[in-house]
Amino acid sequence: MRETLVLTNSLFLEHDPGSDHVESPERLRSILKGLEAADISGVRRVEDFAPAGFEDLVRVHTREHVDRIAATAGSPFEILDPDTRTSARSYDAALLAAGAVVSGVDELLAGRARNVFALVRPPGHHAEAGRAMGFCLFNNVAMGAAHARAAGCGRVMVVDFDLHHGNGTQHAFYEDDTVLYFSTHQYPHYPGTGAAGETGRGAGEGYTVNVPLGGGQGDAAYEAIFRSVLVPVARAFRPDIILVSAGYDICYQDPLGGMAVTPDGFRGIVRVLKGLAAELCEGRLLLSLEGGYSLEGLRDGVVATVAELAAADDPAVEPCPLPPELEGLADILRSWWDI
Ligand SMILES: [Zn+2]
Repeated sequence: MRETLVLTNSLFLEHDPGSDHVESPERLRSILKGLEAADISGVRRVEDFAPAGFEDLVRVHTREHVDRIAATAGSPFEILDPDTRTSARSYDAALLAAGAVVSGVDELLAGRARNVFALVRPPGHHAEAGRAMGFCLFNNVAMGAAHARAAGCGRVMVVDFDLHHGNGTQHAFYEDDTVLYFSTHQYPHYPGTGAAGETGRGAGEGYTVNVPLGGGQGDAAYEAIFRSVLVPVARAFRPDIILVSAGYDICYQDPLGGMAVTPDGFRGIVRVLKGLAAELCEGRLLLSLEGGYSLEGLRDGVVATVAELAAADDPAVEPCPLPPELEGLADILRSWWDI
């Protein structure tokens, strides 16, 4: 039977943005300990995969940006923006983080994995074509989506449930109707993008779906949003693969966020994603770690996620009516998706 792959590597512990930084190597250590203790059956840890190559990088980033990050290699401490810093091995870690997503996509397309969790750092969804920001150096999921397209997928759906809007990923595919970007995020909040009216441009109009949220949303609210908005959009779009920016800063303990999701809530989100993947694209589903800054909340959220990915059933998903707090999205969904 095909397994759930967890792609990770000790090099991800060597990206060190400084002892006072919330995006710390301890995050990954906490998750690894949690996964070891949980000992979930049907899960295989994979540590041997290639870093992203130059071709992967320049599908999403400018040559100048790649050179700028490469130039930090070997330097003990560089400050790229107020939130984003590097250590001597950050460039190598960032290449391998993107490589985990690209390799995971290949495993799914070859039918060698049930589904994939890329347990990586640094995170990626804020990284723009020409700029590191928000703890992100290269955009891991955007590179995975671009790689999936180059490998023959006609349509790629990216789902981003991190607390923060994935500005980098949205911008990478803003004029593209082959990569649909769907994001739930606290708004207004860092990085400032992600209004409901940001729906794409040119050929890409309608293929960006933003669900800005005021804060305080918990398990039931997230499941209702996924079932009422994501399920009908995904059925209309019919992706060949689903990639997910999995951010655990929506958990109730998170110091940076105002959401209230519990481990059960993460299981609920993953059940919808897994059900959609089974229904639409032969189960091809990859999640990649983004944020999450409570060591306990992050650990418990990822363990719940991996347990659900490895669970034997593929749950059927049912859409539900739009919750009253999302009334503002109704016109947008009707005009682009006839929902
Ligand atoms: Zn975040």
